[in-house]
Amino acid sequence: MLNIENILGEHKRVCAVVELDAALENLESLKKGLMPETKILAVIKANAYGHGAVQLAKKLASLEYVFGYAVATVEEALQLRRNNLHKPILILGYTFPDCYEKLVAEDIRPTIFRQDMAVSLSEEALRQGKKLKVHIKVDTGMSRIGIFPDDTGLAFVKQVMDMPGLEIEGIFTHFARADEKDKTSALEQFERFTSFTKRLEEELSLEVPLKHCANSAAIMELPETGLDLVRAGIALYGLWPSEEMDKDRTALHPLFSLYSHLVYVKTVPAGTPVSYGGIYVTDKKRRIATVPVGYGDGYPRGLSEKGEVLVRGKRAPILGRVCMDQFMVDVTDIPEAGEGDLVTLVGVDGTECITMEELGTLSGRFNYELACDLGSRIPRVYL
Ligand SMILES: *Cc1c(COP(=O)(O)O)cnc(C)c1O
Repeated sequence: MLNIENILGEHKRVCAVVELDAALENLESLKKGLMPETKILAVIKANAYGHGAVQLAKKLASLEYVFGYAVATVEEALQLRRNNLHKPILILGYTFPDCYEKLVAEDIRPTIFRQDMAVSLSEEALRQGKKLKVHIKVDTGMSRIGIFPDDTGLAFVKQVMDMPGLEIEGIFTHFARADEKDKTSALEQFERFTSFTKRLEEELSLEVPLKHCANSAAIMELPETGLDLVRAGIALYGLWPSEEMDKDRTALHPLFSLYSHLVYVKTVPAGTPVSYGGIYVTDKKRRIATVPVGYGDGYPRGLSEKGEVLVRGKRAPILGRVCMDQFMVDVTDIPEAGEGDLVTLVGVDGTECITMEELGTLSGRFNYELACDLGSRIPRVYL
């Protein structure tokens, strides 16, 4: 049994512990449902959903079945390159022209769907004497980015095929509703996508090496959409895409735990208002403890009066509003609780567990958002 206090070391105020080995277990679980030849693109945008992109990428660097990394921006891609990560990197969104020089120089794959983009990228690649690998995005139902899977899309692909600086390595689409119980919409998107890639084969004799569409939800519940490559994001971190997912079907282990320590414990009489606005007033004599974490750390203010933390293996409810840097919890029913005690904000203590999903729901937010927001002010320790 690992001693949490030893792991946290000097990070008493707040500290996230990220268990990188759990990512490997999660990938193994995800792989089980896929065809053996399907590769995985590890989605580590937004600093790996707040978990630490460089650390995650290093952990996965030697895995043969991990094709590469997907990020959202050039800055994220360059950060990986600066840290000597050499696997392929795909930028999932639009990339602005002022970055094309660096992008080509570092062999970073852009997602293309606009003609002006394709033309400029091809010119830049030629200028550097290279052929740039690109992935074409197809809009089959998100209405976000991507070419349409119709004659206009076909014409776009044909133009790209003729651009001397570009090589079409991949083509992909993204599901809007694969995390729902009813998979009708996702399967319709899949059908539009595969019909389109079939047209490319038949009418342009183009066989794109990497066709991909599955996100975490689809990997777990629509493995038949796996194709050549899948894009694993949230499940890599051991978190669930939505509450409608079948949690018995795939074993996931969260990587992330969040800890603090009680800094003040006091007993107040009935009728005492607690925190900003005095929205909570004690109904009786209560023991109140202060936790030195707040929304300035990304801990949601929406948890005011709703969230709970774990102290000595028991749940302590939040009293009143969460402040920027502190909040109060009720330890009346945990008489053994005292100043300096470990507080678990996310994670396991004894038989109790607070999940990111629980906090997401209680705060009216979303576990993806919460993970991203547990911000830069929180030091991280990697196991
Ligand atoms: C973020 C993202 C993913 C990962 O989605 P998860 O639900 O986290 O698995 C996959 N593909 C695209 C295009 C994305 O933007």
